[in-house]
Amino acid sequence: MSSTQSFVITLLGLLMTTSQALVTESFPGQIWRMAGGSFATMVEASTYSPRVPFWKKTVEQSVSNDTQAHSKSGVEEVTLVNPFRNFNAWVNSFIFPETFANYLISNFGPDASHYMLCYIRNFVSGCIIYYVTAGIFHYRNYVLDKEKLFVGGGKRKKPSSEVILHQIKLAQSSLFLYVALPVFSDWLIEEGYTYCYYDVREVGGWGAWLGLTLIYFACVEIGIYWMHRTLHENKFLYKYVHSQHHAYNTPETLTPWASIAFNPLDGILQASPYVFILLVIPCHYLTHVLMVFCTAIWATYIHDTMDGNVEPIMSNKYHTVHHTHYIYNYGQIFIFCDWFWGTLKKPTGPTGTGLKRKTK
Ligand SMILES: [Zn+2]
Ligand SMILES: [Zn+2]
Repeated sequence: MSSTQSFVITLLGLLMTTSQALVTESFPGQIWRMAGGSFATMVEASTYSPRVPFWKKTVEQSVSNDTQAHSKSGVEEVTLVNPFRNFNAWVNSFIFPETFANYLISNFGPDASHYMLCYIRNFVSGCIIYYVTAGIFHYRNYVLDKEKLFVGGGKRKKPSSEVILHQIKLAQSSLFLYVALPVFSDWLIEEGYTYCYYDVREVGGWGAWLGLTLIYFACVEIGIYWMHRTLHENKFLYKYVHSQHHAYNTPETLTPWASIAFNPLDGILQASPYVFILLVIPCHYLTHVLMVFCTAIWATYIHDTMDGNVEPIMSNKYHTVHHTHYIYNYGQIFIFCDWFWGTLKKPTGPTGTGLKRKTK
């Protein structure tokens, strides 16, 4: 089994096992909310009203009539805790000291403080994910496999430290704005504007979870394909937004550090289908979070210019061709969209050597 195949299998395994573990009833976030403190204040400040899909409206109506009947007859009403904010505040409580959370609340109120903490958390975790994953790929390609890939006649040219440093600087500066997207997404979800659901039972169990996850993922894949293609075909968007990422247009100027070396607006637009599809298709919240996390690792993998062979997955060799030829392979994880809309270019030889750059 090639290293790319094991990488893809590990990523899928991680996605499945973790999402299964996180949706069990005993999830610690649900226990934690009973404790007081500033993080609980942020959870309680949320006026949560879930958006009910049209096919569930009748069921929800009868539940609400039932609750009203109970409250009239003196049975205590259950307070609905915002599960999404509860989860986010629970994660934040491990990262930020209580005194800092308290300070923010007294100055900005519980709602704004919650999102400020989410922003800082996303920024720090975004940096960690970027440096750790790119660092691992860097070590494998330029240290462990250096002799095999770059030393000797006919082999590829090793990317220079200047190129790597350029990519790191661009990625690091983009992260400040780029991480605002997941904060905005959490705001939409926590305010009940999306069809995100927290508990698998809300949609009728694991069968529905699987079906909805596949539909959601397919729509995201199509959304990203068209967003990326538009960033190329619209001259204004290409010139002012996407071209910065395409400055790395040869195998020796493309490295794992280029994954998020882009204009922040470019990153936000390309990742936006993960958010706006939630406005129409229900998706399990933690599965969505895990997908976004795996995408960050994926982005590093597809920029490492190696020749992974895992059809129908849009592996690293396809994305190298995207960078060298511009008008092919816009897809994210699978090759289906490019195949269907006629923009697929299958690399025939090693992409790291002998690829002629096509000028735009
Ligand atoms: Zn592109
Ligand atoms: Zn790229």
